[in-house]
Amino acid sequence: MEMRSGSPAPAPTVPPGSGTDGHRIVVRDLSSGYHGTRVLRSVSFTIEEPAIYVVLGANGAGKTTLFRTLAGILPAYSGSIEIDGETTREGGSGRHLQYLSHIDGFPDGFTVEEALRFYATVQGASEPDVARVVRLLDLGELRGRFFSELSQGQRKRASIARIFLQERGIYLLDEPTSNLDPKLAREIRDLVLGLSRHDVILYSSHNLFEAKEIGKYVLALKNGQVEYFGLLSDLRPKKYVVGIRATGAEGILAALTKKGDYYLQELAGPEEVPKFLNELVARGVQIREIKEMENPMEDLFT
Ligand code: ADP
Repeated sequence: MEMRSGSPAPAPTVPPGSGTDGHRIVVRDLSSGYHGTRVLRSVSFTIEEPAIYVVLGANGAGKTTLFRTLAGILPAYSGSIEIDGETTREGGSGRHLQYLSHIDGFPDGFTVEEALRFYATVQGASEPDVARVVRLLDLGELRGRFFSELSQGQRKRASIARIFLQERGIYLLDEPTSNLDPKLAREIRDLVLGLSRHDVILYSSHNLFEAKEIGKYVLALKNGQVEYFGLLSDLRPKKYVVGIRATGAEGILAALTKKGDYYLQELAGPEEVPKFLNELVARGVQIREIKEMENPMEDLFT
């Protein structure tokens, strides 16, 4: 896989795409952490194109710390964050962005509707905005319930509603679809995809299929540094492995490693696939299906 090394990295730049609304995040040499211990180290990147930027990395890589620093919840130790032309060490404010934490939370003692009204007031949204997000996230039946009484999925749904109260142009979404059933996760992804036509969305996920489906760019962190920043389509796996479902010529197939229903073979690249298949067929193997087994994003979790 091609990797751009992290620290001290020159700020990689994503060129502006067509139709940009001018939202721009420039992070320069950013360090931040907790109680004086650095977690993010010399993080630099520039975002100028409306799109979904999937934020990947192993547990503890620094994804949540990056979100919290960008959102202004965690002050930076050094470096700077420029959001829509305003440079700060304190991160963005609610004027610029919507931040969805991976921990779902509403204030204690509030019903869903009361909490949404409270956030609407804080954000400068109006009563019709509350009604709109209640419809959007199908919260009608939950509006009178206390947050503490809700299931994990219901909590997530209510939390997500908050970020749709006001259009902000920049969205930091830390695992927005965790704890959601597949149908609702799909609806959330569709809503976010809609936003990404004109807004910048940083989106962390542990679900690589989801990440591959929605992400245009990848921002991968490793040990608090930028491991890769660029187009998802430019990511290449370290190894090229194909899996085949096949029958016949038991002896030949038995020599291959098996994963689930698939016999695996590492090849130098896609150009070797026809030769590999021809050889198997010539030796009596009947091939039912072939697919690429490696997901290049998996390498970013090591
Ligand atoms: P990720 O979101 O990629 O899983 P985090 O940003 O949550 O990673 O964590 C990065 C590092 O910061 C980890 O080593 C974690 O233990 C540490 N960390 C996270 N939150 C705190 C905190 N509140 N106090 C001290 N250390 C923390």
